[in-house]
Amino acid sequence: MCAEGFNRKEKTESTEMEEKKIIEQLLAGYPIYQYSFFQTRDLDINSRVREICRTECERYGTSWSCPPAVGTVEECREKILNYPEGLLFSTVAEVHNILDMKETLSTRFAHEEITVSVERKMRKNGFDVLTLSSESCAICSSCAYPGAPCRHPDRMHPCIESHGIVVSSLVEKLKMDYYLGEQILLWFSLILFRKQ
Ligand code: SF4
Repeated sequence: MCAEGFNRKEKTESTEMEEKKIIEQLLAGYPIYQYSFFQTRDLDINSRVREICRTECERYGTSWSCPPAVGTVEECREKILNYPEGLLFSTVAEVHNILDMKETLSTRFAHEEITVSVERKMRKNGFDVLTLSSESCAICSSCAYPGAPCRHPDRMHPCIESHGIVVSSLVEKLKMDYYLGEQILLWFSLILFRKQ
């Protein structure tokens, strides 16, 4: 490699490290259980996930945060690849019974608050971000879809699976925990980012 090419590569790598350092410092202020960085080009974005949304999820076609409102899988892929890097993080919540949907969903709001706060701080630090979260958006008691625009586009996060990404596979690939027993719930958020 020529000297110029080497310097450019070195500069790129050091810039990436500097960016991650900023994000890590920012994450230190939150009760985050685990996190990991990845390159979006390594993501498995799979149209079969969309089929599972369509056939097995009751939220399909009922929310701006879910398909088909989020666009086709190809459109989602294009959006994702506009951001070269991503951050996956998890928080934990204790529950009596992990199978009790009402109880488990009630613990989600704390995770969403952390997600909104982290993405705001990243923006303040000069990052352009696209955030996806664990579940379909539940900010409003009844989603405005499809009759009116989303009421909170600045806080609404599409579901990770809605973009063709299987959370459990990504978690495994990044060597993070996915299951911690029957009374500990893990919530995940994925923040794609690029420096502005
Ligand atoms: S913020 Fe409200 S309108 Fe927007 S996706 Fe969420 S529930 Fe629907």
